[in-house]
Amino acid sequence: MSRISFDNTEVAFADKTTPELRRALWLFRFIGNTSLVKFSAPFVTAAFKTGLPVKRIVRNTVFRHFCGGENISDSEPAISKLWKSHIGTILDYSVEAQQLESDFDATCHEILSIIEKASGNPALPFSVFKMTGIARLALLERINAKVKLSAEEEEEFSRIKQRVEKICELAYRKNVPVFFDAEETWIQNPIDALAHEMMLRFNKERAIVFNTVQLYRIDRLNYLSKMIEDAREKKYRSGFKLVRGAYHEKEAERALMNGYEVPVFGKKYETDNAFNKSLEICMDNLDVIELCSGTHNEKSCELLVELMEKKNVVVNDKRIWFAQLYGMSDHISYNLSKAGYNVAKYVPYGKVEAVLPYLIRRAQENKSVAGQSSRELSLIMTELKRRKNKS
Ligand SMILES: Cc1cc2nc3c(=O)[nH]c(=O)nc-3n(C[C@H](O)[C@H](O)[C@H](O)COP(=O)(O)OP(=O)(O)OC[C@H]3O[C@@H](n4cnc5c(N)ncnc54)[C@H](O)[C@@H]3O)c2cc1C
Repeated sequence: MSRISFDNTEVAFADKTTPELRRALWLFRFIGNTSLVKFSAPFVTAAFKTGLPVKRIVRNTVFRHFCGGENISDSEPAISKLWKSHIGTILDYSVEAQQLESDFDATCHEILSIIEKASGNPALPFSVFKMTGIARLALLERINAKVKLSAEEEEEFSRIKQRVEKICELAYRKNVPVFFDAEETWIQNPIDALAHEMMLRFNKERAIVFNTVQLYRIDRLNYLSKMIEDAREKKYRSGFKLVRGAYHEKEAERALMNGYEVPVFGKKYETDNAFNKSLEICMDNLDVIELCSGTHNEKSCELLVELMEKKNVVVNDKRIWFAQLYGMSDHISYNLSKAGYNVAKYVPYGKVEAVLPYLIRRAQENKSVAGQSSRELSLIMTELKRRKNKS
């Protein structure tokens, strides 16, 4: 058994006022209600498209809870608040599935600003980007399917590569590691290939480029082992963010619709086993790996703590990070940080309408994952009760 406990709600919610906690309680009650989320997600998306005035409601509820704000300076209070408890912020410019070259360039520019801001600032230990923020999804899909590209598409792809190079090169010069987020299987191959190319170029003394491994994918333990072999053979440090994966329903639906084998596990425990196994693999190969365990799963966090204890790795070893999403699982982030572990939280920001797909994923995840919102709810209620008894 590891020495960590996530039950201390006083630590978990130290920087939340009682009204903030009451608002969070209401919010998790709402998104924990499956039928309400099922009904409101398509309604809100359609309302944004048709101009119905839902923006204020979204901004004052889910957006306020899960996001830093609309831009970097709006996110400053969240950054300072987290850093008071030694929790780093990973500023996540949450635009995805863009279409125009000008939008891709603007997103690339924004990611570069995040890296500049993070340079030399321990409160901002990583940067991150999503490939669909700087590349057209349909083109990534064609590359993934190994379709022969037209000359125009080749040019478009070379512009994408230039954006990726710019981001990784600046991350290297400024010594700010950068995560490539993982997306759907039908666009992931070119993302993996580019991340690998950048690791070979920039992961010298330390891991600057991190790829993300989604352990709900049946093929990913194999991928992880191959990448470790590659790093050892070619003498570079590999960086991995380990996650379970955010597109489970979509992956299964698309595979069934198109008649190919479902690429993700069908049972939750299979994903859990794969995730936990990936932690073990990484910990057994720390000589070539740096890892960030991106999860709200208490058992997986406890396991990583246990593995660190077993291997006599110090709690704040620079190669090992825990990460959660802003607005979720503060009991994990704050208790780990208090015990001295390296912890960071993704703090998404962007225009409310641009962040909508991210917010809908969070709402759906909290409704579909048994226990997540009820765990958040019971912790918030425990803390509210504790404060009431104290006063
Ligand atoms: C810091 C951070 C960064 C992230 N970055 C990414 C990213 O780049 N790409 C990405 O895709 N996601 C990313 N995520 C989201 C992540 O993949 C999960 O969706 C989310 O964290 C929930 O998983 P969990 O491990 O926290 O918790 P848990 O509640 O233990 O697990 C829920 C997850 O289990 C899996 N699952 C659920 N039901 C089943 C089933 N029936 N069969 C098999 N598996 C099932 C799904 O992956 C689901 O999301 C990130 C999360 C964090 C915290």
